[in-house]
Amino acid sequence: RPAHGEQRIAVIGLGRFGSSLAAELMARKWDVVGLDENERRVQRHRDLLTHTAVADATDDEVLRQLGVHDFSSAVVAIGSDVEASILVTSNLLEAGVPNVWAKAISRQHGMILERLGAHHVVLPEHEMGERVAHLVTGRMLDFI
Ligand code: ATP
Repeated sequence: RPAHGEQRIAVIGLGRFGSSLAAELMARKWDVVGLDENERRVQRHRDLLTHTAVADATDDEVLRQLGVHDFSSAVVAIGSDVEASILVTSNLLEAGVPNVWAKAISRQHGMILERLGAHHVVLPEHEMGERVAHLVTGRMLDFI
């Protein structure tokens, strides 16, 4: 894995999912650029991340100015606004980001993101449900 500083990731949407993801990546010494249209949310992350910005990520110009085309990875952590999630994912793919991760809130949403070409689609609630079932039955070793 490349040394510290070479792994730069954009986290778009600093809700519960994006926020914990960004914090964990910082702990692992990645460079994390956090973006959210909600100023209060960005404020809360200002001292925790490498760089933060308040902006609407559906605006292609915003992504360009952030320099996302040079990032090794980006995560679309927008959920409930499915249209925004699709648009941002599509713009990141168009910009040529090699590892685009996207969060889906439903299987249908996930399917659309996959068809768009997102490299990794995660369904936190569905996946955590399966994981808890493994934990409940004490079969975690089968899972990890
Ligand atoms: P979580 O479960 O992680 O809290 P959620 O799916 O409930 O997420 P959303 O409201 O969909 O939450 O989005 C998460 C974050 O993404 C919010 O902080 C929201 O402000 C931000 N967000 C939504 N749309 C955009 C956008 N177009 N540009 C930038 N940030 C956005």
